[in-house]
Amino acid sequence: MVQSSVLGFPRMGANRELKKATEAYWGGKISKESLLETGKTLRAAHWKLQKDAGADIIASNDFSFYDQVLDHIQMFNAVPERYRKYGLDALDEFFAMGRGLQRPATESSPAVDVTALEMVKWFDSNYHYVRPTLQDQQTFTLSEEPKPVREFLEAKAQGITTRPVLLGPVSFLHLGKPDRHASVDPITLLDALLPVYEQLLTKLAEAGAESVQIDEPVLVLDLPEKTKKAFAPAYEKFAALGSKIPKLILATYFGDIVHNLEVLPKTTAGVHIDLVRAPQQLDEVLEVLGSNQILSAGVVDGRNIWKTNLQKAIETVEKAVQALGTERVIVATSSSLLHTPHTLASEKNLPAEVADWFSFASEKAKEVAIIAKAVTSGPADVRSELEANAASMKARATSTRTNDPAVKERQSKITPDMYNRKSEFPNRITVQQAHLNLPLLPTTTIGSFPQTKEIRINRQKFTKGEITAEQYEKFIEQEIELVVREQEALDLDVLVHGEPERNDMVQYFGERLNGYVFTTHAWVQSYGSRCVRPPIVVGDISRPAPMTVKESKYAASITKKPMKGMLTGPITCLRWSFPRDDVHQSVQAEQLALALRDEVIDLEAAGVKVIQVDEPALREGLPLRSGTEREAYLDWAVKSFRLATTGVNDNTQIHSHFCYSEFQDFFHAIAALDADVLSIENSKSDAKLLKVFEDETYPRHIGPGVYDIHSPRVPSEEEIKGRIEEMLAYLKPEQLWINPDCGLKTRQWPETRAALKNMVSAAKFFREKY
Ligand code: GLN
Ligand code: ZN
Repeated sequence: MVQSSVLGFPRMGANRELKKATEAYWGGKISKESLLETGKTLRAAHWKLQKDAGADIIASNDFSFYDQVLDHIQMFNAVPERYRKYGLDALDEFFAMGRGLQRPATESSPAVDVTALEMVKWFDSNYHYVRPTLQDQQTFTLSEEPKPVREFLEAKAQGITTRPVLLGPVSFLHLGKPDRHASVDPITLLDALLPVYEQLLTKLAEAGAESVQIDEPVLVLDLPEKTKKAFAPAYEKFAALGSKIPKLILATYFGDIVHNLEVLPKTTAGVHIDLVRAPQQLDEVLEVLGSNQILSAGVVDGRNIWKTNLQKAIETVEKAVQALGTERVIVATSSSLLHTPHTLASEKNLPAEVADWFSFASEKAKEVAIIAKAVTSGPADVRSELEANAASMKARATSTRTNDPAVKERQSKITPDMYNRKSEFPNRITVQQAHLNLPLLPTTTIGSFPQTKEIRINRQKFTKGEITAEQYEKFIEQEIELVVREQEALDLDVLVHGEPERNDMVQYFGERLNGYVFTTHAWVQSYGSRCVRPPIVVGDISRPAPMTVKESKYAASITKKPMKGMLTGPITCLRWSFPRDDVHQSVQAEQLALALRDEVIDLEAAGVKVIQVDEPALREGLPLRSGTEREAYLDWAVKSFRLATTGVNDNTQIHSHFCYSEFQDFFHAIAALDADVLSIENSKSDAKLLKVFEDETYPRHIGPGVYDIHSPRVPSEEEIKGRIEEMLAYLKPEQLWINPDCGLKTRQWPETRAALKNMVSAAKFFREKY
C-alpha cells in the first residue's frame, strides 16, 4: 500500500503555547520544568493529531525550543567556547546561542555577556535558522541522551512509532560558516562529523526507529564541487552500517534536484522530492532511483495554505506508482509543515466562501492520508472527499473575489516613466540636503519602537470592541508623541513615529488592502519565539484609502526634526503573505506596487519628507539557483520597488531597509532600486561584507546596522565606535548613516534607550573627528 507522511509539524501549538511558555521562561516567570512540560504536551498533541488525521508516517525531532539547526549544534557539541565557558545549564546555553545573554553576576555565578550566533533565512522561506559557527580545529561529539532519541522514545511511549528527522551532515556543514577568527572551510570537517552521525543513527536504531528522515535540502542549490563530492563518502559510510542503523529517507525540498542527480545517494532506502515547487523533476528522478529506492512524493504544499488539488496530486502519485509499484511510493507533504499555520478550525471570521479554499497543517495531514488512500484502494473509498475538493477548486477558479477588472485596467496603463525618479541621484541629494539639513553621519532608527504590553492590550481592546475607534486613535497618538519625545531627548536626527498602530509590518497593510483576507490564529514561526500571521492574497489587490498617512502626518506635525514615513515594500508584502497560486507573483507584486505608489505620493503631500519602504524580503525571494528564473525575478522585483517609490519629487528622500547583509551576488539589484538611502542589517556579519559597496563605488547613502536588535543586550559606546570605524574603512563619511540593524519592536524600553544613547554618542564622536 501507498503510505502517507508528514515531514514535520508546526511547533507553536494552536494558540502559540510554545511562544508564551518560552517567553515566560526567559522572563523568569515560569520554571525550566514547566517549559519542558509545555514542550512535551505540545509534542504529544501534535503526534496524536497527525495520527488521527490518518497519516502513516509521522516525524519526531521536528520540535524545537528555538530552532532545529541550533538543536544539532548543541547535540554535536559544536558550541563555541564563548558560550561554553560559562558552564550554563544546557537549556540556557541553547538560548544564549539563539538570542544572546546578558546577566549580572550573582553570588553563585559570574556575569554573562555574550551575543547570539548568526541567524539567517532558511532557504527562500521566512523561517530563520541559527548558523553552525565552526572553528579551525572543530571537533564533534554526541551529547548524552541525544534529543532525537529522547523524543522518539517519548512518542513510542505514547504508542506512536515516529520517523525521527535529522539535518544531514552535508547540509549541516554547507549551511555553516567559520567563526569570526577562524578560516576553516566547513565541508572539510565532514570526516570529523560523520562518526557522530553514525553513533546517533545507531542509537536511534537501538531505540526502535525503523526509518529516519535525513534532510539534505542543499541538494536543491547550485553546489560547489567539494560539497557535491561530500555526499558519496557520507552516504556510503551509512550504507556500510547496514541494519545497525534505521532506513534512511533522504529529503530534499524547496526546489528540484535534477542538476545534482549525479551525487544523489543511491544507497538510501528512499528519496523525498518537492513536487509542488518542482513537479517537472519527477520523470528524471524516477529514472535514476536505485532499484529498491522508495520515492517520497511531496505533493501537498508545505509552504502555502491553499487546499491541494487532490485530483492533480493523485495523478502525480499514480505516475510514480506506475513506475515503482505501491510499496515504493509514499505520499508526502512537500516540506515540513513548519511554514504553515496550525489549523483552519481556529478561524472563525473568514468568509465561508474563502475558508473553503484553504488547508493549514492539520488539514494537510488529512490530505496526504486521503491521497494515499485514493491511490491504494481507488477513488471509491474517498469519493465524497474528492467530490467536495473538486467543487472547491471550481468555486475558487470562478469566484468574483479573485478578479477585479479595474485593477487589471490600471496595470495595463503603466508607462515606462513611472519607473524613474525625476532626476538622477546627484541632483536629488543636493536638494534633499537643503530640504532636510542633516549633520554628517546622521542617526536614525528603522521604524518600530518597543511594542509594549500597553500597546498590545489597547489593540486587543479595540479589536474586541471594548474601546471606541476614537479612544484607540487617541491612545496611538499618545504613543506616537511619547516615541517622538524619546527620540528628541536622544537627539536622533531623522525621527520615526514608532509604528505603535501596527501589529505586523505586512499584516497591517494586508488589512487595509482589497484582495486580501486575514486570519486570527494563523501564526507561523519566523525565528525563536517570534511568529508572524501572514495575510492571504486571494484576489486582485488595490488600495481603497490611505493606510498610514494619518499617523505619519500627526508625527511630523509635533516635531521640528524630519519625520520618516514607513511603508512595507511590494515584494515584502507579497513574500510575507501567503500569495495566490493561481496568478504569477510578478502580477501580484505589480498590483501591490501601484497601491503603495499612491500611498507614497499621499505621504509626500502630507508633509513627510523622508519615506522608507522596507524590503527585507527582497533577498529571500531570489530563486535559489542562478539562471533565467533568477534574472526574471530580479527584473520584476526591482521594477515593482521602483514603481512604488519613484512618484515623488526630488527633495523627498526615499529610504529602503534590508534585514540581511548577503550582497555579494545581489549588489546590482540593490543598486538598481535607486533608493537614496539604504539601511542594512550588518552587526552580526563581518564589516568586510561592505567591501562590495566600496568595490562597486556605491554612489548613494547607506546605513549598515551598528548593533543587533534581536538580543536584549546593550552594546557599549566603545563597541559601536568600533563598528563605525570598521565601516569607515569601506564607506565615505558623507555616505554613511548610523542606525541599528532593524526595528526595535521586540525590545523593551530600558535597553532601547540605553543602546540608542550609546549609538548617538558614538556617531557624534566621529562627526567631530571629520
Ligand atoms: N520598519 C520595520 C520595523 O522597524 C522594519 C522591520 C523589518 O525590516 N523586519 O519594525
Ligand atoms: Zn529589518
